[in-house]
Amino acid sequence: MRELLFLGLFMAALAIGWYLGRREAIKVRFLVEPHGSAIDRHYFIGLNYLLNEQPDEAIETFIRALEVNPETVETHIAIGRLFCQRGDVERAIKVHQNLLARPNLTREQGDRVQYELARDYLTVGMYPRAERLLDELISNQSPMRADALVDLVRIHERERDWEQAVEVGEKLVTERPAFAATLAHYHCERALTAQRKRDWQQAITHLGSALGANRANVRAILMLAELEEQQGNHRECVKWLNQLAETDPDFVPQALPLARRCADNGALNLSGYLDKVIGQARSSPIATVMERADEIKKHSGTAPASRYMVAHLQAEPSLRGLIYLMDLHENAVEPKGRENLLALRGVIEALISDAHQYRCQACGFSTRQLHWQCPTCHGWSTIRPLKGHKAI
Ligand SMILES: [Zn+2]
Repeated sequence: MRELLFLGLFMAALAIGWYLGRREAIKVRFLVEPHGSAIDRHYFIGLNYLLNEQPDEAIETFIRALEVNPETVETHIAIGRLFCQRGDVERAIKVHQNLLARPNLTREQGDRVQYELARDYLTVGMYPRAERLLDELISNQSPMRADALVDLVRIHERERDWEQAVEVGEKLVTERPAFAATLAHYHCERALTAQRKRDWQQAITHLGSALGANRANVRAILMLAELEEQQGNHRECVKWLNQLAETDPDFVPQALPLARRCADNGALNLSGYLDKVIGQARSSPIATVMERADEIKKHSGTAPASRYMVAHLQAEPSLRGLIYLMDLHENAVEPKGRENLLALRGVIEALISDAHQYRCQACGFSTRQLHWQCPTCHGWSTIRPLKGHKAI
């Protein structure tokens, strides 16, 4: 079916191109004989190949018949792109290289062909060649500049060359402001490298740049909170924890161990912090609610913690919350009932053991652990914690 569709599209592209080429040729009086010319001969030979079910030979013949002139360039580009999409990149490269060698292209057309050729090289992993062509388009201020920057930044991303990714990303963000969300992650990656070298100051500088690119980057906020805590700056750490709660309370569970340590050091009122986080969101991750119930249990005992949890579970049912509730009452149950309770707990635990807790908003990929970049669609910050009825 896809082959048929490809062939149909291909034939349409060729027919249009052939017509335009022929019209142009008539215009410049190249086509002396309207019938029986070289173009017509190629056309009928190609048709013959098609009828004999030899599509490859037919395509080659049609391309030879299709004269390259300013009006047929688009057709040639489309043919090359179709080859590339079909997986026949070698042939796509040939078509685009042949086009690029033509002296009669306008600057815009030449740039488009150069961009297509770079994409062909990218498809087959010939990165240095693609990079050279894209660099040229960028430094020549081509109309294809923004597209070239997108592809170039992806090369650096794939090679995990974060310094180069930041350099290109900063140019791209001036043309496409939405790219700032991705650029912030490149700064975070640089901060990670600095962290591995134990260069804390450099890491903090990179994280500052990440927030400069995108103030809502929770990864940078979390990393800053961790860095400050490692340096013993608990007050600074609390500042970032508050920033996290304001920016995106759904990510507070990632910082709960840190928040607990800050509370142990006396730098944070954990109950007050959690109340603020839970109070400002319509629905909260169950991990945040369980942490709050723990605090109630520590200060007021099991019964108020249980009441708090039951009230929450009635509003937002959760199997993890149910297990928490069972554990809370485990010691208060008679031996026989306790046995049944533990059996029931085992069943629920088995049910949730494989459950995914995060999902990519862009492609639907779900996972048990948080990734800042989706392994499937490669989007940054697209994976979010599941909550409410979607979470278990
Ligand atoms: Zn995705």
